[in-house]
Amino acid sequence: MFLERYIHGEAFRARPDVNAVVHSHSPTVIPFTVTDEPLKAISHIASFLANGCPCFEIRDVGLTQGLLVTNNKQGAALAKTLGNNPVALMRGHGNLVVAPDVRRAVHRALYTEVNARQLVAALSFKRPIKYVQPDEAQDPARLGDSWEVWKSEVADSH
Ligand SMILES: [Zn+2]
Repeated sequence: MFLERYIHGEAFRARPDVNAVVHSHSPTVIPFTVTDEPLKAISHIASFLANGCPCFEIRDVGLTQGLLVTNNKQGAALAKTLGNNPVALMRGHGNLVVAPDVRRAVHRALYTEVNARQLVAALSFKRPIKYVQPDEAQDPARLGDSWEVWKSEVADSH
């Protein structure tokens, strides 16, 4: 929906290193936006989440109907919450994912959802969680070539 284009515009304005933005209503991420349960990496492939994700509270910018980001002021406040992180959560709404290129943005958006799902499963054991530590995070330049795998899956399905 173009209604929330301010999310993208203000992220690009705030972060010269960002060339790709994904905003989604990723279903398993939502519970982490409405509780203080941290969404942090538990899987190597989601190690970009090793430092956790800040959470944007739209009410800090003023009352809005539907929790949507529909103007520059809200978009700028969201970009400020994002800071230098790759992912920001949005309370009761979804998330914002940024990257230097489309491939990494898609990777991060997908694996934020997958990591959230895996973390929900791990939390159900009610045991201490061993998160991926920041000093264990994978160098983004050495990211596995998920993109090529996805391309081959799409080609095979047609
Ligand atoms: Zn949205």
